[in-house]
Amino acid sequence: MVEQAGALRQRIATMRDTALAQLQSVADREALEAWRVRWVGRKGELSALFVSLSGFDSAQRPQLGRELNTLKSTLHEELQQVESRLRGDSGAGPKVDASLPGRPRWVGGHHIALQVLDEMLAIFERLGFSIATGPEVELESYNFEALNFPPNHPARDLQDTFWIDDRVLLRTQTSPMQVRIMRSQPPPVRIVVPGRVYRNEQIDASHAAEFFQLEGLYVDRNVSMIDLKATVSHFVQRLFGSGRSVRFKPHFFPFTEPSVDVDMTCFACQGRGCRVCGNEGWIEIMGAGMVHPNVFEASGYDPEEVTGFAFGMGIERISMLRHGINDIRLFLENDVRFLSQF
Ligand SMILES: [Zn+2]
Repeated sequence: MVEQAGALRQRIATMRDTALAQLQSVADREALEAWRVRWVGRKGELSALFVSLSGFDSAQRPQLGRELNTLKSTLHEELQQVESRLRGDSGAGPKVDASLPGRPRWVGGHHIALQVLDEMLAIFERLGFSIATGPEVELESYNFEALNFPPNHPARDLQDTFWIDDRVLLRTQTSPMQVRIMRSQPPPVRIVVPGRVYRNEQIDASHAAEFFQLEGLYVDRNVSMIDLKATVSHFVQRLFGSGRSVRFKPHFFPFTEPSVDVDMTCFACQGRGCRVCGNEGWIEIMGAGMVHPNVFEASGYDPEEVTGFAFGMGIERISMLRHGINDIRLFLENDVRFLSQF
């Protein structure tokens, strides 16, 4: 075995000399590739020497293995040097073509609805509103009863509801937070409540079974419709441009009295009438009104002491108007071709 080990060492030395000498005479990439395959390729001479290691006993194998590894790294280092020399001499320039356009890195971003919501919240925060959020799984008593929807009232039918059981449901509006907030603190109150709501809707281009609302509530002494209109006008002008005006149309909501639908002048035609506004010149953007005395009473506030206004709007709807999006379903489909436009 000692003799055999000596023979292997001899072969290692010979191989080093022969391979390195040959490498010096390599003149082009083709010859370099041939050299690589012969000496350090998977079935090359170096591999054959490693295979022959198995014929040695465990006392000799580690030392011989180390010597073979030294040879291996010597050959690879020299190969690399010749490789880079050839690359530099070939006249073809560097392998990297710096004139190619870079590959854009994939960058995530906020969903368009959240981007618009952030803008909306910023406007109300500057007016002194603070932000509150509440549970999506809500008690029936908060979602309807305390908001002056009596049992079996037809207004409940407008909000087809996902029931968990007789008392618990997926909230159909962010308005239950009006009651939660008023029960938790004395007046005054100035809050906006963003959040997801659920309705058992027939889904189409303008209806989804889940969507986002932004609710607003302002309660203090002597709050009037004028405060409501000033607040809504300011909001619309900040979000849609200073030329917008708003109008109130009488409407019905159980939790406000009087109640209004709020329209703004069409941003596409400046009120002359066009396809965007259905030739009306006006676009409906939210519901609003003065807080109903029954809601104050259910919340522990004295309607003789305080008054207030509330409003609510669909965040997707505002986003659609703001960005010319024509189908609410796009908000939920997570199609990056749509989302990456914003
Ligand atoms: Zn228009």
